Amino acid sequence: MKTIGVIGGMSWQSSAEYYRLLNSGMKARLGGHHNARSLMVTVDFAQIEALQRSGDWDALGQLMAQAALQLERGGAGIVLLATNTMHRACASIEAAITIPFLHIADPTGAALRTAGVTRVGLLGTRYTMEQDFYVGRLREVHGIEAIVPTATERDDVHRIIYDELCHGVVKDESRAVYQRVIDALAARGAQGVILGCTEITLLIGARDCALPVFDTTALHAQAAVEWALQD
Ligand code: GLU
Repeated sequence: MKTIGVIGGMSWQSSAEYYRLLNSGMKARLGGHHNARSLMVTVDFAQIEALQRSGDWDALGQLMAQAALQLERGGAGIVLLATNTMHRACASIEAAITIPFLHIADPTGAALRTAGVTRVGLLGTRYTMEQDFYVGRLREVHGIEAIVPTATERDDVHRIIYDELCHGVVKDESRAVYQRVIDALAARGAQGVILGCTEITLLIGARDCALPVFDTTALHAQAAVEWALQD
């Protein structure tokens, strides 16, 4: 079994979920006392969040590259970045390491294609919903059109991530907000919805949604488990 490297801490609420999913996923594949071999480098989210707000993506890229290098030097065979948003900095990571980088949008895109979804709703942080690094990858690599909520809905989706989910706060009323946003995306022709922020899975899941759900945290972790078992 190969060793999975994870850049975590963005936020640690979702990193804990990655840790659980990597280990339970490996146990599901191998049984017994098996779990995943893994390393996690945890950054301080206060620093990351402040740099995001000031738009300093170069500094963020350097921090991500440093963390990825720590994982490679520590013996990881692959790097996972346990946040969708920070994939804006994926070029800095890929330039810093010689081991593969597993882009979170790729297992997601593969699952969408398998499900025959060509037009999908995307929920995530403002950065993920409004900049092109994520929507563009889905379009260019996977041929999938992602549509995003309206400006007011995006404000709500973003605020709930940073003010609640990243602090481990899960509220029924926020779930209801997300449900309304997802229903509106369905009315605009979305055939499924991407939970494109790694904390959203803590709030809402397939059982709460009318549309098929594509959970990036689960899809990313599962793809890493499969990679770790390949020769
Ligand atoms: N975990 C989040 C994501 O998947 C947001 C936190 C961050 O800004 O990295 O986008």
